[in-house]
Formats: sequence, C-alpha cells, structure tokens
Amino acid sequence: SFIQPHIRKMASNPPILPLEVFSARLSKKPEEIIKLDANENPYGPPPEVFHALQQLKFPNIYPDPESRQLRAALAKDSGLGAEHILVGSGADELLELLFRCALGPGDKIMDCPPTFPMYAFQAAVSGALVIKVPRNSPDFSLNVQLMEKMVEQEKPKCIFLASPNNPDGSIVSDEVLRKLLDMRVLVVLDEAYVEFSGMESRMKWVKKYENLVVLRTFSKSAGLAGLRVGYGAFPLSIVEYIRKVKLPYNVSVTAQAAACAALQNTAYLVKVQSALIQERGRLFTLLKEVPFLKPSPSHANHFLCEVTCGMDAEKLKDDLETMGVIIRHNRSLKNYVRISVGKPEHTDALMECLRRLS
Ligand code: PMP
Repeated sequence: SFIQPHIRKMASNPPILPLEVFSARLSKKPEEIIKLDANENPYGPPPEVFHALQQLKFPNIYPDPESRQLRAALAKDSGLGAEHILVGSGADELLELLFRCALGPGDKIMDCPPTFPMYAFQAAVSGALVIKVPRNSPDFSLNVQLMEKMVEQEKPKCIFLASPNNPDGSIVSDEVLRKLLDMRVLVVLDEAYVEFSGMESRMKWVKKYENLVVLRTFSKSAGLAGLRVGYGAFPLSIVEYIRKVKLPYNVSVTAQAAACAALQNTAYLVKVQSALIQERGRLFTLLKEVPFLKPSPSHANHFLCEVTCGMDAEKLKDDLETMGVIIRHNRSLKNYVRISVGKPEHTDALMECLRRLS
C-alpha cells in the first residue's frame, strides 16, 4: 500500500451530514430544521459581518498570511501582544499545526475522555501515543491525582484540556490548571466555549507560562462556524515554529474580514451570549424533567444527557431526527446524547418531540 501503516490503522470518521442532506431527507426547508448537534450559534454573527462581506474589494488577491488586522484586533483587549496570537482555519487548524510542530511518531500526549475527539484524532494522524486519563464519574471532573501520577510515569509532552469541556460543559479551575502547568508539561487549554462560562479567558496566562497554549474560536459565540476562523495564544518559543510550518494562505480574505467585522460589535456578541446562557438555564430545567434524560450541569452551550430508563440513545437521536430535531450521539458514549442550546423556540420544539416519545 502507498499509505503509511499508522494511517492504515486509523478508524474511519463518522459521517458529518450537511443541513441540505437533512433537508432532502425530511422534505423540510433547511431553516425549518432544528439543528442542535454541533454547538453552532443559532443567532449567527452581527450584521456588520454581512456588510463587510458585501464590501469585499479584492477577492482576486491572496489573503494576508499573517492575518495582521485580525491579530491586532484580537490583541487589543486580550492583555497580550499580537506577536503571541496566531489565526487559523478554525481552532482545528491550530491544533493540527501544533501537532505538526511538536508531536511526532512515538511522542505521548495525555487525553482526558470524554472530550473533544480531535485531540486523539490528531494524535492518530501524527502517530503519537495517547495516554488516557478518563474523567471522574458522574461529574466529568478531571482525575487530577491520576493525571499527576501519569505525567510523572509516562512523561507525555502535552496535555489537552477543553474548558468548558465538550461534551459535558465542565470547567478546569485556576487551581488545577496551575498544578498541571507547574509540572512543566505543555498544556493546551481549548477555550472554544469560554464565552458561555462567565469565566475570563486564560489567554493572558501565556505571558507567564512558557508551557501554555490557549485556543479560541469564532465558530461558537461569534456565530461564524461556516467561515472557519479560530485563534490561539502561544508562547513566543512555539509561535516561531508554527509560523514556519503553516501554509501561507490558511485563512481566506472572507474569513479574516468577517472576523474583524464581528469584533466591531461586541455589544451584539455579548447580547447573543447572554441569550444563550439564559436559554441554557431554561433548557436544563426542562431536560431534568424528562423521565429518560439525566443532563449534566454545563458551562457551555450544550448539554450531555445520560439516556436512562432502558431507552436507547442512538434510537432517541434517530427518532428526533425524523421529527426534524438533530442532536448528537456518539458510539464512544453509548448511553448519552449531546444537545446544543438553541433559541427558545428550538427548546420548545425539542421538548414537544421528547414529550411525544415519552
Ligand atoms: N474545540 C472544541 C472543544 C470544540 O468543541 C470545537 C468544535 N466542535 C473546536 C475546538 C473546533 O472549533 P473550530 O470550529 O474553531 O475548528
């Protein structure tokens, strides 16, 4: 085979279906489908974004490889200089670049499942080994004691942590983060959902800790998942190498312009975040009342729910899909489903479907 052995061994990814496929399958308009499976933002970006996209002047010219304007705007209120900030095609690309620079075949990473599957995925692609330290049951908190022990024993190069975590929405405290950073291992703190947590981002910490990377995105709270813009705060000793290996035109003209425009209307972003945080509270109360669901408290824009009373989680997902409500089920978390927070009318429609299934 032409294919490298570690790639041949990889499991296939589960298919991710676009809205159009659901639309055709269900004979519904895309806007009628209640999409609560990918933690997207139902409100979308501020109007400035649509305006900026209409005004695009030079689509014939390659984008700025260094995303200078966007990095300057991001640095402005971050307490961090633009030289620490890198922009990518989603936070996903920054993860990939970090692996490209830092992690090769045989290197070890620490992963704390259940969590964002992309950490283990990137490890598989680069041939890195995954030291798994599963989260505690039932609250999905980190097993810090075991993590410390395994860091000493296995000497992983890097620990990946999402705060709030996907899928459950639990957060990493300052105290735990400091403890791990003091172990001198590289900590990648994924803050894709930080805007929903009420916590301040730890981007600034990068000035103090040479072994911290913080990843963020415009996909969730800024409503730009479709344009693929993410960013990260990196110690300068790592920035240098990521700049060397990144493809020059990694973020399109459209994506850079849209992200800059989104940052011009922070009042809108805050309003949408507050609406989703408020709706999260209402959805949590309602989900707790469903006899066959046990949602975990969440600091993100989604809930992980245990499916109980002998109900099959995958069948629940399929049944909701036929009613036009899309939620996430993952075979690696057999008895659970993940449900994103939508608009109030999405919650109402979801609850109506759940009632019909009870
Ligand atoms: N981190 C986490 C924890 C996520 O859940 C996601 C998106 N599902 C990402 C990163 C990737 O975000 P982006 O769209 O910026 O690539």
